[in-house]
Amino acid sequence: MLSKSQYTKFLYCQKRFWLYKNKYNEQTAPSDFAKHLFNQGKEVGVYAYKYFPKGVLVEDAWQNSPAALNKTKELLKTQNYIYEAAFQYNNLIVFVDILEKNKDGSYNIIEVKSSTEVEDFHYEDSAVQKYVLENCGLKIHACYLMHLNSQYIKTTDEIDIKELFVLEDLTLDLKPCLDIEETLKQMELLAKEEEPKLGIMAKTKCNNCEFFDYCWADLPKFSIYSIPRLGLAGNKLRDEGILDSRQVSPNYFSSETKNRWVEVFKTGKPYVNSGAISTWLNNLKYPLYYFDFETINFAIPYFKNSRPYEHIAFQFSLHIQKEPHGALEHKEFLFEGKEDPRYACIEAIKKYIGPVGSIIAHYATFEKDRIKDLSKMPIPQEDKDFLLSLINRFEDTCEVFSRYYFHPDFKGSASIKKVLPVVCPKLTYEGMKVANGGDAMAAFMLLYFDKLPADKAKELRKNLLAYCCLDTLAMVKLIDFLYTCV
Ligand code: SF4
Repeated sequence: MLSKSQYTKFLYCQKRFWLYKNKYNEQTAPSDFAKHLFNQGKEVGVYAYKYFPKGVLVEDAWQNSPAALNKTKELLKTQNYIYEAAFQYNNLIVFVDILEKNKDGSYNIIEVKSSTEVEDFHYEDSAVQKYVLENCGLKIHACYLMHLNSQYIKTTDEIDIKELFVLEDLTLDLKPCLDIEETLKQMELLAKEEEPKLGIMAKTKCNNCEFFDYCWADLPKFSIYSIPRLGLAGNKLRDEGILDSRQVSPNYFSSETKNRWVEVFKTGKPYVNSGAISTWLNNLKYPLYYFDFETINFAIPYFKNSRPYEHIAFQFSLHIQKEPHGALEHKEFLFEGKEDPRYACIEAIKKYIGPVGSIIAHYATFEKDRIKDLSKMPIPQEDKDFLLSLINRFEDTCEVFSRYYFHPDFKGSASIKKVLPVVCPKLTYEGMKVANGGDAMAAFMLLYFDKLPADKAKELRKNLLAYCCLDTLAMVKLIDFLYTCV
């Protein structure tokens, strides 16, 4: 049996489909963050039903497809709206998020997605549903994609369902049946063949795939995919049989940065632009405020004055340093309570960040965007002005390590998790209970929404504080290191 999700997997990457059918257990177990996203998707589905409130749900459709097919047949006789309606044509089964019956007896297929825009695969998703339903004898009038409205702001305690979603009519842009039939034939053949010898895809695609660890396990240490922003050049090199970046010819790329990375991998020696680093350091104004937010986001806005997926700051760490290599003062904020954490966060920022001095962040765009978000809250104008005055004070260590200092062991990345082990191996995230932003989000969700025993809550708070503190301490070490490069 084939399903709609297998069909879209096949179109995404044939190897992904093959692995799903033949090596299912090679999938990486979902992280806490991935589970959080999955739960958010389910919540979006439930809200979508409220948009069409008079429907009947086919319970447990995924777990018991024969029962779901029978139940759907029954409901079609009486209902105008069915949720998770199941249909099978030949060897292909699909479940329709929302099926709407029109007055003339035709139907609309409504596919619900937790994204905030239409993506390419949504057309394929809808086309295959239309194909199955039409072959089951239903007249399909339209196929809609229902996604979240990124501009929606929750202004009252209740969600305005009609504003939360956008319905996009995809009907005229769907694939013809012949293409679908051909694809299904190819899927059936491929599933029975040996494992495809297809090379790996672009990293941006593979990053979202559950078979990433499996497919990427045997790459050379300095693979071509370590060259930043490789894009389509990666496929070209792969097709030429070049997977090791050290085999790439000098000046292969038109980009100086890419060629520089190839050189760094080949020689094993860092690239250091001392002059640019020196200029950057000389621009810093002390005291320095090393600053890092932790945030949570909700597909369906949970707090008033927030949009779908808006990052809600619930924690920050701040190290303050009055002079180069000087003593450090540490301040931190971690929200405790059941209200909107952003108001307390703003107060803590006002309390700890003084009127002068550079604010250091690693990938500062994120912190600046959160500050801008906070300035849009219903707070006094002087607080808005203060927050906005911080934006121009940010300096970004990530930018320095993206442009002026490359080390082979960064593997083309400037992320703090890659840079820190090289420039300060003693300071490590290894072994931490909360070791990345996704973990922090999941930990805060538990603290905020679950009634945890006091000792467990205390432990979680301790882990969160330790993680965020390390993020800002790491930036202190990065700047200490940069001083050694000039
Ligand atoms: S990791 Fe990449 S190559 Fe492997 S199955 Fe997934 S998308 Fe395909």
